[in-house]
Amino acid sequence: MKLDSKAPEGPLEEKWSRHKKEMKLVAPNNKRKYEVIVVGTGLAGGAAAASMAELGYKVTSFCIQDSARRAHSIAAQGGINAAKNYPNDGDSIWRLFYDTIKGGDYRSRESNVYRLAEVSNEIIDQAVAQGVPFAREYSGLLSNRSFGGAQVSRTFYARGQTGQQLLLGAYQAMMRQVQLGNIDYHPRHEMLDVVIIDGQARGIITRDLVSGELHRWEADAVVLATGGYGNVFYLSTNAKNSNVTAAWRAHKKGALFANPCYVQVHPTCIPVSGDYQSKLTLMSESLRNDGRVWVPRKKGDDRHPNDIPEEDRFYYLEEKYPSFGNLVPRDVASRNAKIVCDDGLGVGETGLAVYLDFRDAIKRDGRDTIESKYGNLFDMYENIAGENPYEMPMRIYPAVHYTMGGLWVDYNLMTNVPGLFATGEANFSDHGANRLGASALMQGLSDGYFVLPSTIGNYLADVKPGTRYGTDHEAFVSAEKESQDKINKLLNIKGKRTIVDFHRTLGKIVWDNIGIARNEEDLKKAIKEIQELRKEFWTNVYVPGEANNYNKYLEFAGRVADFFELAELMAKDALDRQESCGCHLREEYQSDEGEALRNDEEYSYVAAWEYKDLNGELVEELHKENLEFEFVELKQRSYK
Ligand SMILES: Cc1cc2nc3c(=O)[nH]c(=O)nc-3n(C[C@H](O)[C@H](O)[C@H](O)COP(=O)(O)OP(=O)(O)OC[C@H]3O[C@@H](n4cnc5c(N)ncnc54)[C@H](O)[C@@H]3O)c2cc1C
Repeated sequence: MKLDSKAPEGPLEEKWSRHKKEMKLVAPNNKRKYEVIVVGTGLAGGAAAASMAELGYKVTSFCIQDSARRAHSIAAQGGINAAKNYPNDGDSIWRLFYDTIKGGDYRSRESNVYRLAEVSNEIIDQAVAQGVPFAREYSGLLSNRSFGGAQVSRTFYARGQTGQQLLLGAYQAMMRQVQLGNIDYHPRHEMLDVVIIDGQARGIITRDLVSGELHRWEADAVVLATGGYGNVFYLSTNAKNSNVTAAWRAHKKGALFANPCYVQVHPTCIPVSGDYQSKLTLMSESLRNDGRVWVPRKKGDDRHPNDIPEEDRFYYLEEKYPSFGNLVPRDVASRNAKIVCDDGLGVGETGLAVYLDFRDAIKRDGRDTIESKYGNLFDMYENIAGENPYEMPMRIYPAVHYTMGGLWVDYNLMTNVPGLFATGEANFSDHGANRLGASALMQGLSDGYFVLPSTIGNYLADVKPGTRYGTDHEAFVSAEKESQDKINKLLNIKGKRTIVDFHRTLGKIVWDNIGIARNEEDLKKAIKEIQELRKEFWTNVYVPGEANNYNKYLEFAGRVADFFELAELMAKDALDRQESCGCHLREEYQSDEGEALRNDEEYSYVAAWEYKDLNGELVEELHKENLEFEFVELKQRSYK
């Protein structure tokens, strides 16, 4: 299979505008003849549904939650990047592009990343016009703060609730279209399969999560904006409902899954405290603007942190990376936290934590200033950890947070299945092997408000308006039957182990072997363990309740079943990539200083996997999209 990125030719700065000029258009009065399904109502899906409906397309929107407003995007805390250069500190579209491509360790497409940086400024204008209450300076100008991997302040924020405020903006725009009858909106519906007819995506199968009924939906195109798959690790900062099912089922219908092993582990999370935990809590990266990361210099120093004098504190990020200090990118900060803890310098009961200390910032700026910037995050920390971060340092440790891998898409955000698009965290597109802070919201909204609404027209212009096969077409019937059979199978196992027990065990295998550091031996072991556990899952899981009513267990069982298959592919992908890049640290490939050592000669490609089911045995075939770099020079990343 030849993977064509469809990246436009020409100078980097002109690619997107030229592409927009050259793409085919659908005439305004023809748009209403096309129906588009959008699965997901987070920032990517909500923005896409609202914008396409505003353009005149007929949109049908689905989400799992009881309200579009509760999509996982609501959890985003720290901010959204844009190259406005309001602080006048030397930012530009080029610099945002460069930081992002370098931050991703040169494993993303130049064309996509440049477009993202270009569109970033429009997102801020759009959000401000919607009334999103970004923080402002006394003068009225929007405030900015810094995030990792950048030496400028370009992050726009609304306290520690940026995702919530941006989502309210997208949600209002979407609800306006629901009210106008342009969006047919279905919360509490889970997509179970995509329907493909004559090689084109023509619809989906959903389960009504309240009544349990399965439904068939037909359309001219399908957009998956279904978020990331961090919950394969069981413990992550993601919402419990975040899952891979929609993307995975599309993968099993032919859509390639790209770079599944690229998983971001965020350095500043509240550490794991026991087996009973079902999720982890992020302490936003924005805190590293003012908080200083340190551990005691000597092993076994169990003095209260406030009693440890300056000379006995090891500010390891500031010492090792003087240029970026505490604001090194996430992969670098996470790796270094692991290194100091592995060296026995970790703090707290488990020794798996480091300090994030605001003592100096409070002394310098005053408690009120710190409270106005991070008050809600400090309160959250105190509620969970039972310690007051104004008075003693927070304890933090890396946790799974974001997945750069996802469905392979071309420059138009279309998967290799014509008519099937993927946006936001569900696609693989813009962050390479490591995402910089505050750039997921930027990508989701760029895809949803600005890119997809243009590029989808280029596809639809070639689809005859009004083409309908009917939902009694064989492809719909068999897709529904497959979904129903899977549900029945899960309910009929009636085994002895709970779904949570399987998920937790799977998550531990994935964290131990495909987490911050990986190596060949562990990856091979992980594949075996995952396969064995998957076998046991299908013979020994207990799924209580029934198919035809509200059944949370059944929902989770289906998602965990998909996580098993994904986990195996993640290990295969990590095994294939015999280099270190970004978050993918293969212990065999490190520089003398312990930094990720890329192998550009052999691995400068996007790994796009094709699913093949050979009599129940899962086989994935690797296809490579070679990454060409015309505008940046590939260098060993340095933040020193
Ligand atoms: C705690 C936390 C804080 C973060 N803070 C920041 C930040 O400050 N800045 C930043 O840039 N990024 C941040 N991120 C990352 C960012 O929030 C996410 O990457 C982004 O919001 C994902 O948006 P999305 O629209 O792609 O998906 P989501 O918001 O995850 O939405 C997915 C949607 O798909 C629906 N869905 C999923 N599966 C199905 C299915 N099978 N059928 C039907 N519907 C389905 C869900 O119901 C939901 O509506 C943070 C992440 C976390 C976990």
